Order: sequence, then structure tokens, then C-alpha cells
Amino acid sequence: MTDVHAWNLIPDPLEVETTFFELLAAAESSLGPRDCKWQHIHVEFHDAVSQPRTDNDGISTITVLLNPSRSRIGYCYEAAHEAVHCINPVAARDSTYLEEAVAVAFSRKMVYTKHSKYGLDKCGLTDAYHETLRRATRIDVDILRLGKRARERVGFGSLSLDVTPDLLRELYPSVDQATLASVVDKFPPN
Ligand SMILES: [Zn+2]
Repeated sequence: MTDVHAWNLIPDPLEVETTFFELLAAAESSLGPRDCKWQHIHVEFHDAVSQPRTDNDGISTITVLLNPSRSRIGYCYEAAHEAVHCINPVAARDSTYLEEAVAVAFSRKMVYTKHSKYGLDKCGLTDAYHETLRRATRIDVDILRLGKRARERVGFGSLSLDVTPDLLRELYPSVDQATLASVVDKFPPN
């Protein structure tokens, strides 16, 4: 019988790193290969918002910051979300509803896979992230399929920088233009 209490423990640093790279590999199998320009990925604990931090100074590095007080379930949720952003790193201001919807859908799938419905029930969504899912599912009920198809269409480029409504219309010709355009809006709206 699975001990649900263990799922609520804070993971140790080795587990954090191992889990992150497992999730990154899973993200690549769902969404296609990542941009290997970013060769080095470090995972660090900081008492701050989780986000990939990129560094262009000679070395292509992504630093993933994760709050040190997260439970194992919360960590899985955050790490899976950040793993999607590590596939094609962009500045936070450039991220779109489409990329955020894919990151949320992937993190929910990974938490469900590792921690069942018990884990998923512990991961709340803000209204802004609900809105990303609402917009994306109007194009495709399977958001990860949408993400993979969109990335494939742009040569496994960036969901935020390379995907346009016109390219999405080639993939989803029956979806109206306003719906397609709604997912390439920058997230969150200002
Ligand atoms: Zn995000």
C-alpha cells in the first residue's frame, strides 16, 4: 500500500535533481526534442518563484529555481512545469497562453501519473492558469497533442516565439481565427 504521507515530504537535493531530469526527458517525449543550444541545466533551491533563468554569457545555461519548502507532490508539479519551459527557454515576458497551457497540462499529467488523484487534488490552479487551459482546449481537448503538433510545425521551435495563428490554422482548419489568436497572446495579460 502506498504511503500517502511520504508524498507530502520535502524531497532531498539528490531527489530534486533526479526527478527534474526524469521530468525533462518525459517532456521531450511528449513534446519533441528540446533546443540543445542550452547545454547545461542546473537545479537550485531558492526561496523564490520557480522559473528557468537563462544565461547567454558564453555558456548556454538554464538554472531552474525551486522553492525549498515544497512537498514532494508540489515539487513534482513545479518541476514538470519548469521542464516544459526548459525545452525552448524564453524570457518570462514572452511566454504565451499556449506555452503556459502546455506546461500546466504536462505538470498535471505528471502529478497524476506519479501521485494519482490524491496528488492532483492538492495542486490548485489560479484563475489565470485555468484560463490558459480553457483557451487551449477550445483548439484541441488534448493540450499536449496540440503542443507537440505546434512544435513540429515550427521545426521543434518555441511555442511562444514561433507559433502563429496562421500556422495553427493549418493544423486546425475548422477552428476560428479569434480562438487560434487567443493562445498566442502573451501571458499573463497586462
Ligand atoms: Zn509557466
